[in-house]
Amino acid sequence: MQEALFYEKTDNDEVICRLCPQTCRLKPGQTGNCRVRENVGGTLYTHVYNKVAAIGVDPVEKKPLYHFYPGMEIFSVGEVGCNLHCSFCQNYGTSQCFASDFGGFHEITPVQLVEKAQRGWHNIGIAYTYNEPFTFYEFMTDIARLAHDKGMKNVVVSNGYINPEPLSSLIPLIDAFNIDLKSFDDSFYRKQVKGNLGPVLESLQIIARSGKHLEITNLVITELNDGPEQFEAMVKWISKELGEKIPLHISRYFPQYRLNLPPTPLENLHQLYTLAKKYLHHVYLGNVPDDYRSSTYCPNCGALLVEREHYRIKIIQQGFKGYCTECNTDVNILI
Ligand code: SF4
Repeated sequence: MQEALFYEKTDNDEVICRLCPQTCRLKPGQTGNCRVRENVGGTLYTHVYNKVAAIGVDPVEKKPLYHFYPGMEIFSVGEVGCNLHCSFCQNYGTSQCFASDFGGFHEITPVQLVEKAQRGWHNIGIAYTYNEPFTFYEFMTDIARLAHDKGMKNVVVSNGYINPEPLSSLIPLIDAFNIDLKSFDDSFYRKQVKGNLGPVLESLQIIARSGKHLEITNLVITELNDGPEQFEAMVKWISKELGEKIPLHISRYFPQYRLNLPPTPLENLHQLYTLAKKYLHHVYLGNVPDDYRSSTYCPNCGALLVEREHYRIKIIQQGFKGYCTECNTDVNILI
């Protein structure tokens, strides 16, 4: 165990965790809403340090990041725990598990992890993913610092549910974020996710203002968040508050965990894709085989820039460096 960051001690050995908006107040022996931070004798500890629950090498597109070194791979690590509790969670086996109950940890220090990540031939760095990375904030920041020293990139794939102070401290260490914006309706967040929308929007604004690379994922769930009015309000907000160049991944829902609604109809996804394209330069469909709506086009002249067939990536223009070679438009792609 490692002492946690961002918490306060009280006079009666209780602690108040300030890492995320859940603001857990914990008596000795109690574990936070994220199931990995525990008050032990008046000190808050994290159970997820010097160990990982999942490790792998993935295409960077799988995060999903389509505008961040397309075609490259990224070493990916995850833990157990999450500070939200989505009824439709796709990784509930690890995300909704108490660290104390999980039997599959692999012990590894930050130094060892970075050494392992450096061995990958096409590997651009380390992605903190699979479960919610903010719940292993201390381990992640120690790894990320070492990875940066070695010239590697750091990527966070997250629900965005973190307080502004720890997020601002983390941002200098991170090169790219993919943040889930699960809905634009606070009652959806309260009922289906057990959190609130406001802190996620604030995190998105902080990241966008920082200038770090940002992409957004929106999982469209049949009947729950697939209404075009709410969706249009969301994409308008993204365009106005974060910028029209922010890539949006519209992802298809399949029944999972506690939610058993039918998969999102393809017609709905196509309709929302067309709607989003009115406000945003780069919109993609995910969780569905659709090469046309997974590829990148110049928003100015329409030229095909990056062709995607599942995880087969082809950069079309010779000498492409993030600007369309036909019309010189900046297409917000890091190469
Ligand atoms: S990080 Fe965990 S313990 Fe801390 S406030 Fe959030 S849910 Fe609670």
